[in-house]
Amino acid sequence: MAGNQPDRGNRGLPGGKPRYSAFALARQSMSYHQDWQRAWRDAEPKAEYDAVIIGGGGHGLATAYYLAAVHGMTNIAVIEKGWLGGGNTGRNTTIIRSNYLWDESAAIYEHSMKLWEGMSQDLNFNVMFSQRGVLTIAHSEHEVREMSRRVHAIRLNGIDSDILGPDEIKAFVPCINIDQSIRYPVMGGFLQKRGGTARHDAVAWGYARAADDLGVDIIQKCEVTGLRRQGRKIVGVETTRGYIKTGKVGCVVAGHSSVVAEMAGIRLPLASRPLQALVSEPIKPILDTVIMSNAVHMYISQSDKGEMVLGAGVDKYNSYAQRGSFPVPEHMLAAAVELFPVLSRLRMLRHWGGIVDTCPDASPIISKTDIDGLYFDCGWGTGGFKATPGSGHVFADLIANDRPNKIAAPYSLDRFQTGLLIDEHGAAGVAH
Ligand SMILES: Cc1cc2nc3c(=O)[nH]c(=O)nc-3n(C[C@H](O)[C@H](O)[C@H](O)COP(=O)(O)OP(=O)(O)OC[C@H]3O[C@@H](n4cnc5c(N)ncnc54)[C@H](O)[C@@H]3O)c2cc1C
Repeated sequence: MAGNQPDRGNRGLPGGKPRYSAFALARQSMSYHQDWQRAWRDAEPKAEYDAVIIGGGGHGLATAYYLAAVHGMTNIAVIEKGWLGGGNTGRNTTIIRSNYLWDESAAIYEHSMKLWEGMSQDLNFNVMFSQRGVLTIAHSEHEVREMSRRVHAIRLNGIDSDILGPDEIKAFVPCINIDQSIRYPVMGGFLQKRGGTARHDAVAWGYARAADDLGVDIIQKCEVTGLRRQGRKIVGVETTRGYIKTGKVGCVVAGHSSVVAEMAGIRLPLASRPLQALVSEPIKPILDTVIMSNAVHMYISQSDKGEMVLGAGVDKYNSYAQRGSFPVPEHMLAAAVELFPVLSRLRMLRHWGGIVDTCPDASPIISKTDIDGLYFDCGWGTGGFKATPGSGHVFADLIANDRPNKIAAPYSLDRFQTGLLIDEHGAAGVAH
């Protein structure tokens, strides 16, 4: 680490993949873009790896990339049962921020934020990281007071955070309704200017391409169906494409973490629930920031294509089906239309759900287990997209060195026995 900046691993593409650049784009146009190299190989599973990462979402791919780039572990594989980013990575509403209440949270989310700020350059892949600001609004006197406490805590951790009054919010977001007679009046808000959004698929693809360049095998359409142990040690994984021998297994399977943990006889303190989002038909630009409301469980931004991207809170039941119930988006849309009357005549274009894995304290698990060589990175719940680079960076460190670093240590499974919980529930609310 240099100063406060995390070590981002190797710059560029040391494995020899051609760099993406304006020059490359012009050169490829000569051959009508028929000669682009595949972004990653379609690797066949080998009989043995030094480490296997289960889950080809952003966190799993980032872990593999940092294992190779920072720790020199290149004989590794990422095993994905579907397609890269087809889980929550490709289903989320892409909100990125680091303005959390507790010190432990500030450390990991700010570590991530710094990695986001250099990611496109590090991976040589435009992840369209846009620091357009994230504004969280308050609708009651109590929320305004709580917000002020939170902003002070955030600033004490050196993270940017500004309080805005209703008039300042109106100037910043002209299409918001600040009429004080509405059901959820805008009474104030706090803004993280460095927060924003990124293109979720690009994050998965960028990490995959950079990891593949370093020799990592990325194996799609291959489900892990069992974990093989010898006593208290992991020795391999059973998959739908055969047995793979390995002494280290990193599980990064989000909503399916309890399922994979059960393969090793472990119970995790997680609930898997549906979380839904939707987009409207595309319109001209009207919103150039991200708005969150914890009280009404609503958050909104506008994509580069012009679609209004809206998300709600979790459904209140456990499920593994990647869809949710109607009352949740209905409640959220009622509040959204009141706050943004301009939305009332828009049509919905797509609607989907993902399965989020939430711990009782709404904080993640980055941990060894009592089985040697078996590690879990999960429990990111409704808010793990923003943590993708930081999570991958510290999880790779844990797998490579078999001990958590300072940032990861508070997120060990032990906390559910010691009681040292990192209770972000109050701070998170809607939690993105
Ligand atoms: C609707 C919605 C909105 C959200 N909005 C935000 C937001 O705005 N901001 C934010 O920070 N976070 C948000 N999140 C949360 C965020 O998406 C997740 O925390 C994050 O993407 C998790 O990434 P991951 O790589 O751990 O999981 P995933 O992307 O889900 O990847 C896990 C992968 O594991 C694979 N897998 C599972 N079981 C197996 C197996 N047995 N064998 C092989 N592969 C397996 C799955 O197919 C999947 O691809 C949202 C989530 C949803 C659903």
